[in-house]
Amino acid sequence: MATRVGIGYDSHRFAPGRPLVLGGVTIPHPLGLAGHSDADAVAHALTDAILGAAACGSIGGLFPDTDPRWKGADSMVLLHEAYAVVKRKGFRFVQADVTVIAETPKVGPHAGAIAARLAEILEVSPDDIGIKGKTNEGMGFVGRGEGVAVIAVATVEGR
Ligand code: MG
Repeated sequence: MATRVGIGYDSHRFAPGRPLVLGGVTIPHPLGLAGHSDADAVAHALTDAILGAAACGSIGGLFPDTDPRWKGADSMVLLHEAYAVVKRKGFRFVQADVTVIAETPKVGPHAGAIAARLAEILEVSPDDIGIKGKTNEGMGFVGRGEGVAVIAVATVEGR
């Protein structure tokens, strides 16, 4: 049985009048994230990490943002669909570690809820998904409060 690692990255710009959804959890914040789907950067980075671990391509390849089917899509549905692709290739999800980089809001208070939501989709225990937040120390687009960046690493095993 092979153990394989994948990495995913995503970023979205803050925008008024949108909810802030991270890992399927709506976080109270004056600004949400702009995007074709619900702009859930945690779900998107984790989806790419899982797809990458199984060499199944990328979220943009599976769900192109030019396709009207995915406009306003619930990214938990996209994660679920992507995991189905990975499972069909003979892999199962083992664990993930996710870092959310944003000046605000603080992600820590929501980490448990996010892990629980993701664990449900990926058929593991919330203990198998690490969620942590950090700032960018005021530097760059994250530091200026323009948006959120997320890095995810995931392990799959199988075949
Ligand atoms: Mg995205």
